[in-house]
Amino acid sequence: MLDCRVPDKKSLIVSLHDAHPGSRAQIAEQVAFLASYGITRSSILVVPEFHHGTPSGGDPEFRDAVKAWQSAGHELVLHGYFHDRRESPRETLATVFWTRLYTNREAEFLDLPCAVAQDRLARGRKLFESLGWRASGFVAPAWLMAEWIPGVLAELKFAYTTTLREIVPLAPGTNRATSSQSLCYSTRASWRRVASALWNKNLFYRLRETDLIRLSLHPRDLEFPLIRRQIDQILRSALKRGFQPTTYGEYVAR
Ligand SMILES: [Zn+2]
Repeated sequence: MLDCRVPDKKSLIVSLHDAHPGSRAQIAEQVAFLASYGITRSSILVVPEFHHGTPSGGDPEFRDAVKAWQSAGHELVLHGYFHDRRESPRETLATVFWTRLYTNREAEFLDLPCAVAQDRLARGRKLFESLGWRASGFVAPAWLMAEWIPGVLAELKFAYTTTLREIVPLAPGTNRATSSQSLCYSTRASWRRVASALWNKNLFYRLRETDLIRLSLHPRDLEFPLIRRQIDQILRSALKRGFQPTTYGEYVAR
């Protein structure tokens, strides 16, 4: 009898976080680094106005680079708007761990008033559209967002969001959230790099037995030999085990 089941597919999603004019060269290096493994699909997380600096849409070289990445098969994702907390409410005891210790004051979407969050998401969406950057997903800086943000994203017709531990489809009638923790490095201090490498080594051992590996890279990650070596090992091992590079957008739409 004919077997009509779709063969099990193992997916590898690499995401490149914090693309903006100031990180253009680092993201370009990461794109080239991935290509050296034959990986030509990743999800590139673009910030419209990183830390209130040069607007991403106002830098011709960056605009061209983003367009080229998209044309080459990479996916663009809206990643916050400012990626900082300059106009955020004051921290409270309930939020200070997330805003000061877990992140370096980057949790932009953790506690914004609803109207402000809606406005920033709509502006980000418009900006992408005006530049011909296609984005079906939104990822909050440091994956931290108020619990009502996914509802706002769905209203704005985003197809998905992600957190550190989940991929969350947003369109009505789509699949449930997929649980899978992302590999991710903290490089702010040498002890953090060593701890990250240990943590990610163990996490990778668990993930390679599943059908989904998520690897999130930040602009400076490849500058540290310890981290670069481990990323090399992870990519080689994942590809050897049959994991196929894809993007979040493709994964959610499958
Ligand atoms: Zn970020």
